[in-house]
Amino acid sequence: MVVVGAGFSGIGAAVRLRQEGFDDLVVLEKARDVGGTWRDNTYPGCACDVPATLYSYSFAPGPGWSRLFAGQREIHGYLRATAERYGVGEVLRCGVRVLRARWDRASARWQLDTTDGPYRAAVLVLATGPWHRPRLPDLPGLGGFAGPVFHTARWDHGVDLTGRRVAVVGTGASAVQVVPEIQERTAALHIFQRTAHWILPKPDLPLPRPLDRLRRTPGGHRALRAAQYGLQEAFGFAFRHPWLVRPVQAGARAHLRLAVRDRGLRRALTPDYALGCRRLLTSSTYYAALARPHVHLHPTAVTAVRADRLVGADGSQVRADVIVLATGFHIGDLPLARQVRGADGRTLHQVWNDGPEAYLGTSVSGFPNLFLLLGPNVHTGNTSAITVVEAQLAHLTAALTHLGRSGRAVLDVRPAVQAAYNAAVQKALRTTVYNSGGCSSYYFSPSGRNAFIWPWSTGRLVRRLNRFDPAAYTWYGRAGELRAPVR
Ligand SMILES: Cc1cc2nc3c(=O)[nH]c(=O)nc-3n(C[C@H](O)[C@H](O)[C@H](O)COP(=O)(O)OP(=O)(O)OC[C@H]3O[C@@H](n4cnc5c(N)ncnc54)[C@H](O)[C@@H]3O)c2cc1C
Repeated sequence: MVVVGAGFSGIGAAVRLRQEGFDDLVVLEKARDVGGTWRDNTYPGCACDVPATLYSYSFAPGPGWSRLFAGQREIHGYLRATAERYGVGEVLRCGVRVLRARWDRASARWQLDTTDGPYRAAVLVLATGPWHRPRLPDLPGLGGFAGPVFHTARWDHGVDLTGRRVAVVGTGASAVQVVPEIQERTAALHIFQRTAHWILPKPDLPLPRPLDRLRRTPGGHRALRAAQYGLQEAFGFAFRHPWLVRPVQAGARAHLRLAVRDRGLRRALTPDYALGCRRLLTSSTYYAALARPHVHLHPTAVTAVRADRLVGADGSQVRADVIVLATGFHIGDLPLARQVRGADGRTLHQVWNDGPEAYLGTSVSGFPNLFLLLGPNVHTGNTSAITVVEAQLAHLTAALTHLGRSGRAVLDVRPAVQAAYNAAVQKALRTTVYNSGGCSSYYFSPSGRNAFIWPWSTGRLVRRLNRFDPAAYTWYGRAGELRAPVR
């Protein structure tokens, strides 16, 4: 088996597969280190926005998190330590980029081209992450900007922002973390906001002593996770029943009113769509930062860059020394989708011309023995991605165990099963705030289909993934070397 990527998903896959007795595997990671998101995003203020006790593996409680919402360094350290503790290094090959993969019918194997030469795999697991490829805006003149330009996910620590005029393009999850951290040292900070976001306060505190002590006991850790899970689920419930969003929205409005006195600024910061439609943000410091006299919000998209100026869609022009692009990621465009070819020779990208689609976010018809982690329509918009990954890994190990026992070599999800499942997903999405809240968001593919969100509760997702249904797949070929544990 080959697992591509060594972030939360790939490390989790290596640990869980080996725990279940599938030890004939390698993890290929193009970077020099593990960590994915938490290796790449080193911008000031980078942290998780789901409490760290929940944003961690259930099987590895982690260190005494210093804060309720751990910072990037701490999370990266946790991932490295977890990889080491579970011996992931034995199967990890860093510095190896997968260039393309092709299903070979004759040998019933995936044929991979990598920077380390060819690999053959009975099973291919793509753990390449949706939040991986930075999205760079296509702005005329950006290349000719007089000063440094960098994306939040590629923070240039060599650039000193002290006393500089800095422009931040974008006001999403990364921007609300970075702006409060850097504003103090800049001479002027200009923030370009195309779309306003709903923002709730973030109780970004050290874990209170009694809770921390509780967290260190196995039962206490489970209880704390359950409580945090329940709280996140309450948001999910409201997002699926949009009339319940109103009181949360009133709370977000009150948060804005308390932090920003200027009416005009408040108006500019008030979204014109329902809370939850786009990703809900949390910060207790962003609004306060915007209220500082040297920080300026420009409620307009940037349309061009000219020498040392950014030009807004409203005609405004702003001089800057440094541009920080907080413009997010190519979310719906899975990193290897254009390079992975299935049984009929088409790539995932070609098959997905109407937007990404899979069965349970994991299997794609026509792509035998391929498993996606954090694939289409398994994100909840409210809870920890790690909960989803772990449920997918339970599904993966169940599938492989079944394969090993079946005497077959290949499983491929039935097209009709995949189609019926996706029709139900799309139908259920219609009434959620994600689809009906009056916004456009990265949840939607260019064709206008929500290809990102799971429309039901996280509990239902976990149960659905835990229940492996062999009848959903066709099974063929004679068993090869794939080893299943003997029980
Ligand atoms: C700033 C930030 C904050 C976030 N906060 C939260 C949060 O609070 N809660 C939450 O649930 N989620 C959060 N997320 C989402 C986060 O990305 C996921 O939770 C999780 O880290 C994804 O892990 P992953 O392993 O699937 O992907 P990644 O972490 O992106 O890892 C993918 C790995 O695959 C490797 N790779 C890619 N292509 C290839 C190739 N061709 N060959 C070899 N290797 C390859 C990459 O180098 C990378 O190491 C956040 C994302 C960002 C950017």
